Amino acid sequence: MAKVKDQFLHMFQRPDFEKNLRLWADRDGNVKKDILCDIYDGKIWKNFSNGGKVYDEEEISNEQKFFNKEHADDHLGIMINVDWFQPFERTIHSSGAIYGAICNLLRETRFKPENMLILGLMPGPNEASLHQINYYLAPIVDQFQSFWKGVTLDQTFEHSSGRLIKCAIIACCCDIPAARKLCGHYSANVSCHRCLKVATNGNFGGLDDINEWFIAKDVDDHREAAVEWRRCKNNEARKRHAKRTHVRWSEILRLPYFDPIQFLPVDPMHNLFIRIASLIVKQL
Ligand SMILES: [Zn+2]
Repeated sequence: MAKVKDQFLHMFQRPDFEKNLRLWADRDGNVKKDILCDIYDGKIWKNFSNGGKVYDEEEISNEQKFFNKEHADDHLGIMINVDWFQPFERTIHSSGAIYGAICNLLRETRFKPENMLILGLMPGPNEASLHQINYYLAPIVDQFQSFWKGVTLDQTFEHSSGRLIKCAIIACCCDIPAARKLCGHYSANVSCHRCLKVATNGNFGGLDDINEWFIAKDVDDHREAAVEWRRCKNNEARKRHAKRTHVRWSEILRLPYFDPIQFLPVDPMHNLFIRIASLIVKQL
């Protein structure tokens, strides 16, 4: 797998690449306030600091922001994705890909193949189960630890003497099973990854305690439980721990700023388009 730095080096040689990375910073104006049209309208893009914390709007100055106009094309926000696919016909064989999209690029160019970072390939034949994904994640996280501090590309199209690039993984957008594995959350059949609501019957936990819903999970508690999982002495102890805390270790937590609760959006594919919403309505 080509290193992230080599992939960036290649992209940054293209004549329009740096210009395209800056377009987001000139975007606003015609965008309506309070309507989220793109990642740039969200709290994380707006208020993620150089220190790796997401602040409330009024608490953060422009200089403190990781994504600001001055650094529009050298502070990059990466959205990480994992998915499995069937590369062969007439046989069950799942291969997986871990890839990254650069959110600084506008939506129309963000997902073009030439702009995607290929981070890892999992050959199969089965999907990596639960924490096994960590073996693939570890070398990726190593590279992004360096990019959080800053990595110098020797030459870019606009900077012949080189330039310092910083990156942060600020979103993890995949289907539920992959997202859970990537961030170390327990099964979606059991608990929500954002709040303390627990399911009692498949994906559904009833409507009785609606006043107690939407209590956000605490990222520090999650990190603490993840570290405890790693300290468990054997598989049985790890299983018991995960059942109790709903957390497993994930290598992605080695990124000091990564928030496995806020950086993981709710998956519309399974929730709305495939069965889960209809399943809940049927139960009601
Ligand atoms: Zn929830």
